[in-house]
Amino acid sequence: MIRDAYDVVVVGGGPAGSMSARHAAAGGASVLLLEKDRDLGLPVRCAEGVGKEALDRYVDPDPRWISSKLGNVRFTAPDGTQVDLLTNTVGYILNRRVFDHELGRQAAQAGAQVITKAYVNGLLTRNGTVQGVKIKLPDRSLEVKAKIVIGADGIESRVGRWAGLRTHWAPKDFETCYQMTLGGIEVDEDFVDCHFGNDVAPGGYAWVFPKGKDIANVGCGVSVSRTNGKNAKQWLEQFVEHHFPKASVLACVAGGVPAGKLPKKLHGNGFMIVGDAAAMANPLTGGGITNALAAGKVAGEVAAGAIRKESWNEKVLAEFSQRWDKGWGNDQRRFYMIKEAVHHLSDDTFNRAAHILCKMPLQDRTLKKVFMTTLAHDPKILIEIARSFV
Ligand SMILES: Cc1cc2nc3c(=O)[nH]c(=O)nc-3n(C[C@H](O)[C@H](O)[C@H](O)COP(=O)(O)OP(=O)(O)OC[C@H]3O[C@@H](n4cnc5c(N)ncnc54)[C@H](O)[C@@H]3O)c2cc1C
Repeated sequence: MIRDAYDVVVVGGGPAGSMSARHAAAGGASVLLLEKDRDLGLPVRCAEGVGKEALDRYVDPDPRWISSKLGNVRFTAPDGTQVDLLTNTVGYILNRRVFDHELGRQAAQAGAQVITKAYVNGLLTRNGTVQGVKIKLPDRSLEVKAKIVIGADGIESRVGRWAGLRTHWAPKDFETCYQMTLGGIEVDEDFVDCHFGNDVAPGGYAWVFPKGKDIANVGCGVSVSRTNGKNAKQWLEQFVEHHFPKASVLACVAGGVPAGKLPKKLHGNGFMIVGDAAAMANPLTGGGITNALAAGKVAGEVAAGAIRKESWNEKVLAEFSQRWDKGWGNDQRRFYMIKEAVHHLSDDTFNRAAHILCKMPLQDRTLKKVFMTTLAHDPKILIEIARSFV
C-alpha cells in the first residue's frame, strides 16, 4: 500500500500536517502523510479555542466540529477581581477530534495518502540533504524516499533536529500544561475565562473554555522555569478544587506549548518544519491551531511549487521561511515581547490594573483603551513592564 517513493512525505497528522499534505497534493505533488497515533485528532491535547476570523481563512466552518461559539473574554486577577472585555469578535470552541479528522479527510480528498499507526523514527539523508523517512509500522519497518519531507510532528518534534536545525526552547519559553474536561459544573457560556497569579499558574494562566452551559475545558499552563516545585497537574488540581470542587472529570490530558521565538531557519535541503514543531504557536496565549493551519498551507504550496520546478534545495525552500516571516514574523515577535512583559508582572501589579479597568464602562474596554487607561492611571506599571526586558 505504501509506495517506495513520493514527492512529499509529511510527518504528523495534526492541523499543520494535514494542511501541508492537502495543499501539496492539490498543487500536483504525490504525498504521503504519516501519523504515529491510531486516530487523527486523538488524544486531544488542546483547549480547542480559536478565533472565527482566523479559522475561516483556512476552512469552511462546519457545525460538526464547532462545540460552542463565544465572543467575550474575562480576566481574573490574582485577588479575584474580574475584568470583562467585549471583543466584538466571535470565537469557537472546537471539537478537535472531529476537526482534525476532517482536515485529514480533506488532505485525502486532495489526493494525499494518509496512514495512521506509522511512527517515523529517522530520516534518510545524503550529503546534508533530506531524502526520505524511516517508518515503523505495527508489523514492519520500512524506508520511503521523498524529495521533500515536511516535519509537522508537533511539540515533541524530532524531524527538525534530525535534519540539523536548532529546535530546542529555553525552559522559560516552554509552557507545560494540564487540562481536564469538567462536567456537572456551571459556567458562563459567553466568556472565555483566564485566571492569572503566582498562586494560580506562575508564568502562564489557568483557563475555563466553556463547551456548553455545564461543561468546559479547564486547564493551566505554567512556565517550565517557574513551576515553583509543583507540576502543571498539581497547579490545576488546586485551581479545580477552589473553583469547581464538585465537578466530574470527563477527560484529562497533559501537553506542552512552545512559547518562544521561532527557530532561525524553518527549512533546509529537502525539508521544512511547520506548526508546533517550529514553535509557531502564539507565545502569549499558547494558541497554535490557526498558525499551524496557515503554515501548513504555505508549506504545502511551496512544496508543490518546488516539485513543479523540479528543484527542492535549500534556496528554493527558503520561500517558505520568507513567506512565513513576512506574513506572521512581526506578530510573533510582538506577542513574544508582550508575553515576556506580562508573565513578569507581579500579582500586585495585576491587581492594581484590574481595579483600574473595572471602573471603565464595559463598552469602552477595547484592548487598546485598556492598555492606555492602565498606563494613564498607573505609570509604574510601564516601569515594571520595561524592567522585564532588561
Ligand atoms: C493543553 C493544551 C491546550 C491548548 N489549547 C489551545 C487552544 O485553545 N487554542 C489553540 O489554538 N491552541 C491550543 N493549544 C496548542 C495547539 O494544540 C497546537 O498549537 C496545535 O495542535 C499545533 O498543531 P500541529 O499540527 O503543529 O501539532 P499537533 O496538533 O501536535 O500534531 C502533531 C502530530 O504529529 C504526530 N507525531 C509526532 N511525532 C511523530 C512521529 N515521529 N511520527 C509520526 N507522527 C508523529 C503527533 O501524534 C500529532 O498527531 C493547546 C495545547 C495544549 C497542550
